[in-house]
Amino acid sequence: MKALVFTAPGQVELLDVPEPDPAPGEALVEVRAAGICGSDLHGARRPGFRQPPLIMGHEFAGIGAGGEAVVVNPILSCGRCAECRRGLRHVCREREIIGVHRAGGFAERVAVPASALRPLPPGLPWEAAALIEPAANAVHAWSQAGGALGAGGAVGADAAKGARVAVIGCGAIGLLCAATALSGGAGRVEVTDLSPARLAAAQRLGAEVADPGLSGGYDVVIDAVGSAATRAASVAHQRPGGVAVWLGLAGEEAGFDGNALIRSEKRVLGSFAYRDEEFAQAMARIQDWDLTWAVGYPLDAAAEIFTGLMNGGLDPLKALLRP
Ligand SMILES: [Zn+2]
Ligand SMILES: [Zn+2]
Repeated sequence: MKALVFTAPGQVELLDVPEPDPAPGEALVEVRAAGICGSDLHGARRPGFRQPPLIMGHEFAGIGAGGEAVVVNPILSCGRCAECRRGLRHVCREREIIGVHRAGGFAERVAVPASALRPLPPGLPWEAAALIEPAANAVHAWSQAGGALGAGGAVGADAAKGARVAVIGCGAIGLLCAATALSGGAGRVEVTDLSPARLAAAQRLGAEVADPGLSGGYDVVIDAVGSAATRAASVAHQRPGGVAVWLGLAGEEAGFDGNALIRSEKRVLGSFAYRDEEFAQAMARIQDWDLTWAVGYPLDAAAEIFTGLMNGGLDPLKALLRP
């Protein structure tokens, strides 16, 4: 079968590889759509958890062995550690991620633990199905901020209701954070980005462009970039007693004024991945949102698309491979 293989730092190739051979307890998925994530691009440039040779792809959906439509929750956890026992399996001490620590969805077929499969609602377009995983990250970030996004459209009791929210960075994750906050009861969501196309996508989701920039006093600031400058801004622009939620991973530096955090009782919370119920909530809501910023490409074009995104020569807001 054909697969996009990360073969060396800064290099991906479309190769003929052996068919996956499901181990006991695993299921074969015929991949229909798989999103290229910023973390894949970063990981290919500077291998960390992702070590070549690897078929990446942790945001994907397809057809299960019984012909059913499925989406994969790629978070694998041990089920035994203290975090797993507390219901926080997304921060399991032995956490592994499909497409990071083992072969993922940038292929015609992939074997995954059967426990990772989630049935899709009938009629959900494949492009939307591949965006459930990034959307789950956004639902979790909103939960971290004190918000809630109930399954099936009900917004629950919600500390962030009516909140004035800023989202820094309008890549796929930032856009989905804006959409989640608006669906979750935020009063107003303002966004920043350098790209007019990304700002336009945010406006189609109901967000406002912060013009001429963030104006301070926000209840919630979501940093979907993760540079020292955006992290500093997330602290500077939150109101006293507000909260910044960080999920961008652009760099290691934090760069904010620690004393300001103390004097104004500001808060900074990390947000990584999602709980199982947040994945389900993302699935229930994904079709409520304008997703026209995600563009599908055939697997044959995968190496060209991935390389173009990695080297910055290409700018679809979100690329989905369609094996
Ligand atoms: Zn991702
Ligand atoms: Zn665990």
